[in-house]
Amino acid sequence: MTENLITSLFRKEVLGLSAYKVAEAKNLIKLDAMENPYTWPDDIKQQWLAVVKNCPINRYPDPEAKQLCKTIRKSNHIPLESEILLGNGSDEIIQLLLMALPTHASVLAPAPGFVMYKQIAVSLGLKYHAINLQADDFDLDLVAMLEAIRQTQPAIIFLAYPNNPTGNLFKQTDIEAILDIAPGLVIIDEAYAPFADASFIDQLPAYDNLLLMRTVSKLGLAGIRLGFIAGHPDIIEQLNKIRLPYNINSLTQVTAEFALNNQALFDQQTEQICKDRALVFSQLNQLPGITAYPSSANFILFKTSKDQATTIFQSLKQHGILIKNLSPQGGLLSDCLRVTIGKADENQAFIDALTTIIAANP
Ligand code: PMP
Repeated sequence: MTENLITSLFRKEVLGLSAYKVAEAKNLIKLDAMENPYTWPDDIKQQWLAVVKNCPINRYPDPEAKQLCKTIRKSNHIPLESEILLGNGSDEIIQLLLMALPTHASVLAPAPGFVMYKQIAVSLGLKYHAINLQADDFDLDLVAMLEAIRQTQPAIIFLAYPNNPTGNLFKQTDIEAILDIAPGLVIIDEAYAPFADASFIDQLPAYDNLLLMRTVSKLGLAGIRLGFIAGHPDIIEQLNKIRLPYNINSLTQVTAEFALNNQALFDQQTEQICKDRALVFSQLNQLPGITAYPSSANFILFKTSKDQATTIFQSLKQHGILIKNLSPQGGLLSDCLRVTIGKADENQAFIDALTTIIAANP
């Protein structure tokens, strides 16, 4: 196809983007994508198969996923005043939110942050403002945030709580200050809620401009693609107009319903992951040249000695371990790598390999 046709067909913002790349993980210990490493015991799998067997896949799914909405409301303790909308992963909800904005609206988020906020905003031709976190502890730079909000009047502010890729929870009072002056919506993205001991869910009725988003991906259901957003019914009503009618497929609806009714299983797994996170954190900080940052999520961000991150990342891969190299993103992420907490033996294999690599390149 001629280059002319391509350049005349697509928006310049789309032409300028690179597709989101997912690393090939075949034959590697996969500690790169914040997945729950555990599957279900056989008896639970059998019960789930019975549910799937009876799922009428010849019919369109329930367009409003009414039963699943009820279960999600209950398991997440969503206040009665709030309405919810489901998405094909929270990625789809981010896309919905941004698609609903006027063409020249501004979107603001701290940096480093979750890459899809920027990727989707830019692809839609919106103005994206990234405000640096503080360099030492990745906390919000509240003065800079408030000033940027005043200047850019963002229609949407994204705050991931805990933040990806840094893993920390921003100060509650800082977020409240942002909610107080934001001229538009503030999306608190609680993708990592299962691993954190703080949440804004109870604050929903207190702020008309607060929307709270969660996903089942990190909990252990990344494969079924399901997220939700809760907030004021008037806002959810507008978003529903651009949601595709059958965006949550039947197999996802019945599987999520089944899984959320077996919450105890996830609670056990989550507890184990949090315990293992504490161990990996202390092991990382004992290694020469490594600084690990405290995390309230199921991953840990760590800094290597100067200019060592990419070499260490590649050496880990040669040892059969895939983590995420964030150093190429530059800025505050220079020399940074991120490891997802896996099963105990996977974590130990990671620490052992990293110890060997560092000892060989002092
Ligand atoms: N928000 C944050 C902060 C994330 O880190 C992620 C996944 N990496 C998502 C949203 C998207 O989650 P999903 O689309 O799997 O629901």
